[in-house]
Amino acid sequence: MIQLDRVSKTYPGSTAPAIEELSLDVRAGEIVVLVGPSGCGKTTTMRMINRLIEPTTGRVILDGDDVTNVNADELRRRIGYVIQQVGLLPHMTVASNIGLVPRALGWEKKRIRERVEELLDLVGLDPAMYRGRYPKQLSGGQQQRVGVARALAADPPVMLMDEPFGAIDPIVRDRLQDEFLALQQQIHKTVVFVTHDIQEAVKLGDRIAIFAEGGRIAQYDTPAQILANP
Ligand code: ADP
Ligand code: ADP
Repeated sequence: MIQLDRVSKTYPGSTAPAIEELSLDVRAGEIVVLVGPSGCGKTTTMRMINRLIEPTTGRVILDGDDVTNVNADELRRRIGYVIQQVGLLPHMTVASNIGLVPRALGWEKKRIRERVEELLDLVGLDPAMYRGRYPKQLSGGQQQRVGVARALAADPPVMLMDEPFGAIDPIVRDRLQDEFLALQQQIHKTVVFVTHDIQEAVKLGDRIAIFAEGGRIAQYDTPAQILANP
């Protein structure tokens, strides 16, 4: 579903590459976790998959298409993006935040409203209670649930999740991880998930890509294989 083919990225003004000759293959319906220390290029990799930045060399293929040739609206339909700093718009209600992408895609209001209700149910927030709230009226865990709902709004086959639970306290994080795994059983997305927490990687990943300094992948395997051959 996602292929990175010898992708390198050197940021303008920088001498060392952030990513070097990185190849990665993500199958439809699996959760691949990118794990590794800060600064090893995980976020850069995510941002190249959804074309927020362009590789210096190499190609990113999404379901057979080079992402360079996929326009921005089409990418929004195909990829949902969840980040640590949730990024909910503070002056907009929960419902409006979740409706952002469908609205940008020109869905009818009735369809957006129904989808918002469905998504709130899906992420475990009572629509009657939460649709009209503002982000600051929610806990961190609730905001992150809204972030996940927003990313799922247009039902994209691919979800990119960059440390989505990184800022959440450990007990709530554990519950969000369980909820996410249960949700994935229903929705079968192709997920690329970034964390620096190896326990989270082992818990969530069908496969784990261990990043090393300099933007390379040191090991790419199932959690069981990685635990057996550290
Ligand atoms: P990670 O997500 O693993 O913490 P990043 O992908 O954010 O790593 O960063 C990889 C490397 O690229 C780091 O050395 C970082 O300083 C550098 N980098 C990230 N973003 C930029 C940028 N916009 N401009 C220049 N260098 C950057
Ligand atoms: P508008 O006033 O144009 O509807 P809003 O920003 O208030 O814009 O809402 C954005 C979208 O979110 C709307 O199209 C609507 O379908 C959905 N929405 C807004 N309020 C609610 C709500 N209380 N319950 C469910 N969906 C809502």
